[in-house]
Amino acid sequence: MAEAVAEPGAAAPMVVPAEATYDGESSPAVVRGGMGVGTARVRGVLLDIDETLVDLEGAMDLALREVSAALLPGLSEAEWVTFCRIFTRGSDDIYDRYMAREVTFAQQRVLRAERCLAHFGAAFESGAQAAQWLEAYETAQPGYVRAFDDVAPLLDALEAAGIAYGAVSNNVHDYQRAKLDHAGLARIGVLVGIDAVGVAKPDPAIFREGLRQLGTLAEETVYVGDNPAHDVIGAASAGIRGIWLNRRATVLPPDAARLVPEQVVTLREIPVLLGLS
Ligand SMILES: [Mg+2]
Repeated sequence: MAEAVAEPGAAAPMVVPAEATYDGESSPAVVRGGMGVGTARVRGVLLDIDETLVDLEGAMDLALREVSAALLPGLSEAEWVTFCRIFTRGSDDIYDRYMAREVTFAQQRVLRAERCLAHFGAAFESGAQAAQWLEAYETAQPGYVRAFDDVAPLLDALEAAGIAYGAVSNNVHDYQRAKLDHAGLARIGVLVGIDAVGVAKPDPAIFREGLRQLGTLAEETVYVGDNPAHDVIGAASAGIRGIWLNRRATVLPPDAARLVPEQVVTLREIPVLLGLS
């Protein structure tokens, strides 16, 4: 099911818009977090999966182009980028309909594809063609999923320091398990999906389940993720120190930035932030 970016998870009230909203704005003033005075020793690290551990958007781009090429012959490189961005960042409203159970997971994917096609004046010729496209996409996309380069060094550092780690994701467990395994991240043993507790981030219950499975307390655990609202503010609602992974060096509006006090641009900064190196 869910693919991050435009499939960010629950349709819960958003205090801060998803980071994708600010895509492309480079930040000359990225605020680097630091260990607050009195912060408990960190014994556990929980991580988001999509766009934090694995480059899902990259996988989606490659799969979208592979399976959509015949529908839009002659599209330029720039137009393909637009096609992919509409699918991955310009269709949150459609994914929200899936989260609200108005459409199935498969249907939301087709609806998003239809929006991309419509942007270029195209459409599926029939339901059968849409179903064929969907099947091709579902087959192709998992094969393109890769872990980001900064993941293995982080996990190595955590293991060396004896810090437990796991994942809490706005997607179902089995789908994410297969994704992590495919991406070479089988060593992430703790994995909490939305089917574990029946709620998604930013609901504190899913973070608490992560703590339970990790065996650490909220005050000695940090959560790292790419979505300020779901991952940072959500973690904070469970008493967990949330760190924003801001890979694109996006700038948040001041009122939102107040709620996201710590950020890094790469996971390589996390061991330093935790005082491990
Ligand atoms: Mg994510």
